[in-house]
Amino acid sequence: MSARARLPGFVPSKSLGQNFLTDASVADRIVREARLDASFGVLEIGPGTGALTPGLCAAAGRVVAVELDGRLIPALEAKLAGAGNAEIVQGDIMKIDIGGLVEEKFSGLRRVVCANLPYGITTPAITALLRSEAFESLTVMAQREVAARICAAPGSPDCGSFSIFCQYHAECAVLFDVPPDAFVPRPSVWSSVVRLVARRERAVPREGEKMFFRVSRAAFAQRRKTLVNALSASFGHRIEKSAISQAICALGYSPLIRGEVLGVSDFAEISAALSENMKSQEAASCGTE
Ligand code: SAM
Repeated sequence: MSARARLPGFVPSKSLGQNFLTDASVADRIVREARLDASFGVLEIGPGTGALTPGLCAAAGRVVAVELDGRLIPALEAKLAGAGNAEIVQGDIMKIDIGGLVEEKFSGLRRVVCANLPYGITTPAITALLRSEAFESLTVMAQREVAARICAAPGSPDCGSFSIFCQYHAECAVLFDVPPDAFVPRPSVWSSVVRLVARRERAVPREGEKMFFRVSRAAFAQRRKTLVNALSASFGHRIEKSAISQAICALGYSPLIRGEVLGVSDFAEISAALSENMKSQEAASCGTE
């Protein structure tokens, strides 16, 4: 049933990305793909009219659903009244302390996210969810182009610093595509369901992460440039261009390689080498002062 049918007079908000999923078979499939059982606590972002929420409640131990639009809450509460393991939190997921919420609500449970994300906040929401390091997996629906970027292989035109960020934190895969007809109101674009499974082991140690993300962002900020030129532009006087070139060549890469063909493990070794280089440059300059 559409939001309009269930909530007479309800006008969906474009700015809140309110395209409600009305195809029950898609909703069932998303819930199945989250691979839940009673040991899981699920964070749902934007339950809307509850296309996914009852299925999540049936499959998981506990569901906490964060919805920003207060107009939807009464109908949602009525729909979930019999569930017994659901809690609706009215709020903005971008302003909530996600780690704190999860600790408070999911004590003793494994933690995952399952959601049909609002288009407008897909990238920042996924960024916040991965950064929180609070979840074993995220099974989410997103605009198809965003899903492609999350999972893009190095060298593909979709691959960018957001792909590297997601793939650093998780193993990412597109599960299936969903046509515009599955929603009311009908969006102008296709969607895809993606699954991000948090990596237990990271490609770089904690103290190397800042450099890793700085290098990968710099590489894609000027993706048509060689990596050496892009990094030289980004690091300025902090590291000589010749030293960048040497470090990259010493790892076996061509001095003409472009950052856009590199993946997580490449950026890990390049950023580690540049860190070492900067440390020795700083030590040398201290010795000469
Ligand atoms: N889960 C429902 C479905 O599949 O039909 C609704 C999905 S709809 C694409 C996105 C939902 O996210 C809307 O209900 C919207 O009000 C809510 N929303 C938008 N921005 C939000 C935010 N910052 N925090 C929490 N919920 C938000």
